[in-house]
Amino acid sequence: MSGTSCLPRGNELNKGLGMDNTNNGKLLFRSTNGRAPAVSFEQALLRGLAPDGGLYMPEEIPAFTAGEIGKFSDMEYHEIALEVGRKFLAGEIPDEDLERIVKDAYNYEIPLEHVSDNSFVMRLDQGPTASFKDFAARMMGRLMQYFLNRNGGKLLILTATSGDTGSAIANAFYGLDNVNVVVLFPEKEVTDRQRKQMTTLGKNVSIVALDGKFDDCQALVKQAFGDSELDYLNLSSANSINIGRLIPQTMYYFYSFAKLRSGDPGEKVVFSVPSGNFGDLCGGLIAKKMGLPVSRFVVATNENDEYPRFVKSGFYEKLVPSRNCISSAMNVGHPSNIPRLVQMYGGTMDENGNIGTAPDMDLIRKDMYAVSISDRETEAMISQAYTESDLLLEPHGSVGWAGLQSYTDREGVAGEQLCISLETAHPAKFPEKIREILSFDPELPPSLQGLEEKKEFFQHLPTQYSAFKEFLKKNYTG
Ligand SMILES: *Cc1c(COP(=O)(O)O)cnc(C)c1O
Repeated sequence: MSGTSCLPRGNELNKGLGMDNTNNGKLLFRSTNGRAPAVSFEQALLRGLAPDGGLYMPEEIPAFTAGEIGKFSDMEYHEIALEVGRKFLAGEIPDEDLERIVKDAYNYEIPLEHVSDNSFVMRLDQGPTASFKDFAARMMGRLMQYFLNRNGGKLLILTATSGDTGSAIANAFYGLDNVNVVVLFPEKEVTDRQRKQMTTLGKNVSIVALDGKFDDCQALVKQAFGDSELDYLNLSSANSINIGRLIPQTMYYFYSFAKLRSGDPGEKVVFSVPSGNFGDLCGGLIAKKMGLPVSRFVVATNENDEYPRFVKSGFYEKLVPSRNCISSAMNVGHPSNIPRLVQMYGGTMDENGNIGTAPDMDLIRKDMYAVSISDRETEAMISQAYTESDLLLEPHGSVGWAGLQSYTDREGVAGEQLCISLETAHPAKFPEKIREILSFDPELPPSLQGLEEKKEFFQHLPTQYSAFKEFLKKNYTG
């Protein structure tokens, strides 16, 4: 049997462009709040947030056989991405178009660095903005462009960033002529380099600095989405809540296992995922549901420890305000993807963090080891990893790696099990921290060279919604 013969073919004529809700072999997407109609992938992608305030999830999570996953070991990244993507998109996008999209999006390396025994670091930092968010943003941008080209229409993307999302989104959409992008960022919480990666673009990309926290930025974006007076702008979200970002975040889990597995039947893998808004982790959880043999996810947060506390106690309490840690892209007091996670474990949670039906906490504890890593531990691990293992980490990757050490120490499995820790940004994005701890300047990847000399364009706004709304009305006509 061929690895793909069970898939519905993708080249049937795309009738009705997903406007009807009959599925014709297509996967449908439902809101986690359960009060909005199921929609096609195209609609879920272009809308971002469901009209009932929930997040779109596939009605059913498609699965691979062990044999299909076995074949991935001989494939390149974009080939695995195509196999994973078509499981969700068959019937929506013809295979040859999807193939073109993934090839174009994933044209960079994904180093799998051996550290010790059976432990590896997967470096997801080789994309154009040196952040793992390039994986999701580049694919989502190309998918949106694909549908807008096919069906006409314009979009205004609104995104709040705690550092890396903004530049990944801005770069992924930069220069497209039917999409404008507005990125809000907390001025005091991003590094100079992170800011310059966004503010030096121009064209269809507008950057707004807020004198507040990431959560304030996210609140403004959410309010704009809920404001019917702005409907004419055709707003869409490119944050990690968009289903178009979630699906690409399942692919590198398959890839790294395929490349690092020993081939023993029954082999399992532990992934350590430095987590903030939990999109990356949800991608991994979906990959597991699709059949990837993951024995545990180490869910490593910084001092924003609402999730580790939830796993321990079963009570969810968001953290307001969020805490400022050196792994700044993970300073999230109420991760917006948590309702998806809760749903995957049989529960319901609304966008405010209120639990309707409790998820299966025993299963959550079986699948995940959640741990909060302090700034002190993060810094100590950057130093220790470098001096003991020649492993250069930046703060986010250090949280993941420290989380993994905490897990293997506790379980006594060090050296036996295949463990893969995700490094989500390039160390050169955090030169001040690296210099302070290791006394040298990390080498710049080509994508970050030449930023210093470029001119910056951005505006300041207060945190009041009225000011933001005025800004949108003044600058965009829909
Ligand atoms: C966004 C980000 C994270 C957290 O990913 P989530 O999907 O939000 O959990 C971790 N590290 C870096 C560098 C990031 O930019």
